[in-house]
Amino acid sequence: MPLITRLNSFVLTAALLVAEVVLGQSSSSSDPAVDFSDNRTPTWQETVAAFEALAELHPLAHFIEVGMSDVGRPIHAFILSNQGGAIGSLAELRSLRGSNAEKLGLLVNNAIHPGEPCGVDASVAWLRELMGDDIALKRVLETMDIAVIPMYNVGGALNRNCCTRTNQDGPEEYGFRGNALNLDLNRDFIKMDSRNAFAFVNLFQAFAPDVFIDTHTTNGADYPYEMTLIATQPDKAGPVIGPFIRNEMGPALYASMDERSVPMSPYVYSMDETPESGIRGFLETPRYSTGYGVLFGAIGFTAEAHMLKPFPVRVHATKQFIESTVSYMVLHTNRIRQIRQEEKMRWKNATEVPVRWGLTDNFEEIEFQGYASRKEVSPVTGELRLKYDRTSTWERVIPYYNEYDAVQVTTIPAFWVVPQAWREVIERLRANGVHLEPIPTDTTMALRVGEIKGFQSSSRPYEGHHMNKVSQVQWEVQPIQLFAGDFVVPADQASLRFLCEVLDPQAHDSYFTWNFFDSAMQQKEHFSAYVFEETARDMLEGDSLLRMQFEMAVEADESLKNSASSQLNWLYRASKHYEGTVNRYPVYKSLADRQ
Ligand SMILES: [Zn+2]
Repeated sequence: MPLITRLNSFVLTAALLVAEVVLGQSSSSSDPAVDFSDNRTPTWQETVAAFEALAELHPLAHFIEVGMSDVGRPIHAFILSNQGGAIGSLAELRSLRGSNAEKLGLLVNNAIHPGEPCGVDASVAWLRELMGDDIALKRVLETMDIAVIPMYNVGGALNRNCCTRTNQDGPEEYGFRGNALNLDLNRDFIKMDSRNAFAFVNLFQAFAPDVFIDTHTTNGADYPYEMTLIATQPDKAGPVIGPFIRNEMGPALYASMDERSVPMSPYVYSMDETPESGIRGFLETPRYSTGYGVLFGAIGFTAEAHMLKPFPVRVHATKQFIESTVSYMVLHTNRIRQIRQEEKMRWKNATEVPVRWGLTDNFEEIEFQGYASRKEVSPVTGELRLKYDRTSTWERVIPYYNEYDAVQVTTIPAFWVVPQAWREVIERLRANGVHLEPIPTDTTMALRVGEIKGFQSSSRPYEGHHMNKVSQVQWEVQPIQLFAGDFVVPADQASLRFLCEVLDPQAHDSYFTWNFFDSAMQQKEHFSAYVFEETARDMLEGDSLLRMQFEMAVEADESLKNSASSQLNWLYRASKHYEGTVNRYPVYKSLADRQ
């Protein structure tokens, strides 16, 4: 072997050895010990080993791969179900859940932000305890199947560090927020840029959870609460799930946490710098986990343990929240089933759906405990800085702004048409269980076609996109050439709400917003002015009405009057040469609305 090659192979071997140590792939990583009372959270390898060991403990437990992460390692789910037989794949999970519509499903997602890993430790602790108590386990599994994602952001978890959660109290090491593509996976549920999102959606669609918990740690203000909660926004959730969360399950969960001596507050999203003057409810649009889940009727909760409480305290609080939710589900199985059924039924007859929301000025009053705060001069900047005093607690009623109004409502067509060319869109629709009907032969259909007016893209990328905003869509009927294999998407299907949210260009997180249709927003042909001059002259000479319109337009618009190229462009747009498809939204609506 030539020296240089030998050297390279030595360097490579050494590098791999170093990598193994850093990534914790040594033989000791098979030790499943996860101690949830210390200031340490397990690595990805230790987490997988811990859940594998749990699954081996019990015949009703299963540990499956649900898909691949961007870093090239699998994402897992731990399943507990008393519906017999082994579950070794998503397909088996799907048929299990499909054949047991009577059984509730609880899905817990952990470490979407691996720097906020309380849920990983809490889930292991909760499951160990539950599986060690035959009576409790039997009672729980009589009413529900459980699915736990041990660590969703595998790439982030492997990017372990001591310090990127600047303000957080432990654990001593944890993963990074961004995944292997530096995406925040809790913004990726609709656009699905990550392989992780496809794995999640496949699991979610197979398992069809009734209740969904996503575990996090807060940012922001300081206050005594160890646990805070973002329930899926009730107004956005709609007239069935909304009041159920607001008046029934939400209050019951707060009461349960009180009983467990872990009083909980709504997530503290302060109106001002500190919570005294009020907090607001978070609008988790469909890009967020619970915002995605509610499109399929899942009752979603984001558990946010407080960043300044020591890690073991946060783990304990998260475990208490999961247990509170399970207890509620055991006690109110029929009510949850009824709510889920009513939610399904309301979409059977829906003719319109709100797709954008705005916070109102209305508020309710809630009891809140805070720490006293003051401003003092910073020795660093010389400016006033905020300082909390943890020795001084206040308790008072503060306003809680959590009422949202619909600011954009879409009427639901009988069907949409999505040309097969938009295959990234089709791929995502399919992953979400949308039923698509291919058109058998080439044809021309009269359809409603939307012209996108006044759209703007953000100048800086956000989560890998220059997001679009649309001020108006003008719909008119046009004949549209379609080809065999283009798709009709009927509104009469279970994924209807999801369809409305992704296909209305003005929805918060539509595929249009997330740039899937950007190529339709560009003019492809143009003209050379020196050639078009003669054409323009002929047009004006041959059409007196056009001439009059042109003269009026020039008269009314100073910039048009002063620009020869703008005038030629005006005439070009009025000519037969101008392409009719500029800014045409390429998803079409049926002539009739849904009845
Ligand atoms: Zn988070």
